[in-house]
Amino acid sequence: MESEIVPKIAKMTVSGKKQSMGFEVPCAAAEENGHPNTPQKGLLPEDASVASGVLEAVSKSTPLPQVVQDSEEQNMVPTPAKKSSKAKPQIDVKAELEKRQGGKQLLNLVVIGHVDAGKSTLMGHLLYLLGNVNKRTMHKYEQESKKAGKASFAYAWVLDETGEERERGVTMDVGMTKFETPTKVITLMDAPGHKDFIPNMITGAAQADVAILVVDASRGEFEAGFETGGQTREHGLLVRSLGVTQLAVAVNKMDQVNWQQERFQEITSKLGQFLKQAGFKESDVAYIPTSGLGGENLVTRGQSSDLTQWYKGKCLLEQIDSFKPPQRSVDKPFRLCVADVFKDQGSGFCVTGKIEAGYIQVGERLLAMPPNETCTAKGITLHDEPVDWAAAGDHVSLTLTGMDIIKINVGCVFCDPKEPIKVCTRFRARVLIFNIEVPITKGFPVLLHYQTVSEPATITRLLSVLHKSTGEVTKKKPKFLAKGQNALIELQTQRPVALELYKDFKELGRFMLRYSGSTIAAGVVTEIKE
Ligand code: GDP
Repeated sequence: MESEIVPKIAKMTVSGKKQSMGFEVPCAAAEENGHPNTPQKGLLPEDASVASGVLEAVSKSTPLPQVVQDSEEQNMVPTPAKKSSKAKPQIDVKAELEKRQGGKQLLNLVVIGHVDAGKSTLMGHLLYLLGNVNKRTMHKYEQESKKAGKASFAYAWVLDETGEERERGVTMDVGMTKFETPTKVITLMDAPGHKDFIPNMITGAAQADVAILVVDASRGEFEAGFETGGQTREHGLLVRSLGVTQLAVAVNKMDQVNWQQERFQEITSKLGQFLKQAGFKESDVAYIPTSGLGGENLVTRGQSSDLTQWYKGKCLLEQIDSFKPPQRSVDKPFRLCVADVFKDQGSGFCVTGKIEAGYIQVGERLLAMPPNETCTAKGITLHDEPVDWAAAGDHVSLTLTGMDIIKINVGCVFCDPKEPIKVCTRFRARVLIFNIEVPITKGFPVLLHYQTVSEPATITRLLSVLHKSTGEVTKKKPKFLAKGQNALIELQTQRPVALELYKDFKELGRFMLRYSGSTIAAGVVTEIKE
């Protein structure tokens, strides 16, 4: 076991435990909208690079704001003028945020792949090699997993424990585990290792900037995961649909096939074709031969001559480090989706939640939507400490005055009064229908889920079925929607909800639809009616 290998380049900054408390350093969920290098034309429906199930093709007619930015650096240039009309524009929040992060970029990572491909083992071992799990704990896992007759699962248990922790956590969108690479702080979203991995993964995928797709290189196993019924394709399509453009494919369990180059090539060429169809650009997909169990090619380049004689590329950690950073939402108008409301001792009351976009300073006016009323942020608490400012990605508690607590519910959005969020009961969306048993028909009741919102809604109109690859309408006014289809629908919510167009605010413009306990579709908001 490589228990001595604890590279300096990365260390655990925050444990999963701490995170489940709901307060965290800026998490990359606050970043958004893909990375700045996403070519604008990539969003046009006629562009072949946007293919199957790509919900974001909805943005076709309107250039996304992020494409104007062409580098993270440029993006980080402070823009003090932006909030000059606000009460106290004295703090250069963006510069402060840079300092707080130690200059590292934040990235949300989701791990996807067929069951038993080795996702948990791979990530657990990676965290262990990075020094995020101490030797004693690892030893404990080894003993326990041996006792349970599952010695080979020791690394996977690293993630299982954080999983339990998270279930006790407050919000469903809190990332679980963080680790660092030389240039990045990575939040591992919804780390795998659960039976109900799919619903979990969807939540994670909806927040992810990049993904690792794990496939099992063993003979027959890759094929099983890749064929219909296997999760490799389903997961690949899903993350692409939710806006993930960069992918690292860990061709795992290479030890099982003696690190054979031919097997690696066979898998990458099959996957390559599929991923291209799914809408990934070839240059944004990297293939890395790994052994999650043996720990090879994870945080340092594999040493075995069977590998080095044909593979000169990056190890998994290097690949993660070289993902392009997404654009940060700090530049956008302030948005915070309320996760909790409570009265504290002093005047006013408190709300907690994650800042989805923009930043806030003490003393600023905020608008709550609904109910469309303003208040003042008297105090900001981050990690249980009072602070002067907080920015996109921070889980904060705000003390508010000038408003009645009765008016505020979980799911309300606090926003910049000058650039308020939209509130509606009717909107249109492009959805990707999951594996459902009963086809969806007009009048179908659903639960609309996004951020902290969970609101009963009805699918009131089936507008069209869209071609998975091109986004073109293949059928108008369908009678029903079946599994795997891409469609344009209209939804009516029971009460008004605050949301945004996906093209403007990715975080507040994508949602899931659930029905009797399972997720039946993922979607993005394309038009807000009223
Ligand atoms: P998950 O369902 O994708 O999270 O898969 P797990 O991490 O639970 O792994 C499933 C099984 O594959 C376990 O028995 C692991 O020990 C085994 N496994 C994972 N990675 C490797 C690997 O690189 N090589 C070999 N030989 N076995 C592995």
